[in-house]
Amino acid sequence: MTAIAIPPLTKDLVRVLIDADTIQRRVDELARKINKEYAGIEESLILVGVLKGSFIFLADLCRKLNVPHVVDFISLSSYGNSSKITGNVRLIMDTRENLENRHVLIVEDILDSGYTLDYLRRNFTARNPASLKTVVLLDKPERRKIDAELDYVGFQIPDVWVVGYGLDYAERYRTLPYIAEMVPVTD
Ligand code: 5GP
Ligand code: MG
Repeated sequence: MTAIAIPPLTKDLVRVLIDADTIQRRVDELARKINKEYAGIEESLILVGVLKGSFIFLADLCRKLNVPHVVDFISLSSYGNSSKITGNVRLIMDTRENLENRHVLIVEDILDSGYTLDYLRRNFTARNPASLKTVVLLDKPERRKIDAELDYVGFQIPDVWVVGYGLDYAERYRTLPYIAEMVPVTD
């Protein structure tokens, strides 16, 4: 097998915050906890990935699950046209699955203000799922505006803009295997 080259940092990226091996080990640990928690469930768990940022995390996580599950997605818009946090979350694309009486696990890339997850929790709770939990790869606790209940968290990170492993800046950097800190952007 040929070794896969790790893409170098570009001038926009300050440093690697979490390297690829560390991410994979943590995803393993999260999958083990989830396998334990849902062991023996009768109906498939529904993993709902929040597009687009969670798609790589979700892809790695679901391949480590040994509990029966189906993959679904939802798309939300949280920031409107600027990067300012407004708390104004809109549903762009809904899940295909009916969540009523199902075990639902929301899969999110990063928790920042908390508005997105708060919106999703309220929206999904109204659909009467059998259970509702969340798994978030990254958490920026310093930025929290609204309390968010988290069941599984990968890493806590400082208040910096991060890209890689699914996360972007203007659609760039999603395919980096690591999480990198960006040079601060002003808008
Ligand atoms: P919240 O509603 O918690 O403020 O925002 C969560 C969403 O903002 C995340 O799902 C993600 O799309 C985006 N976000 C927040 N911080 C970052 C970051 O550092 N990098 C990237 N790429 N997206 C972020
Ligand atoms: Mg997101």
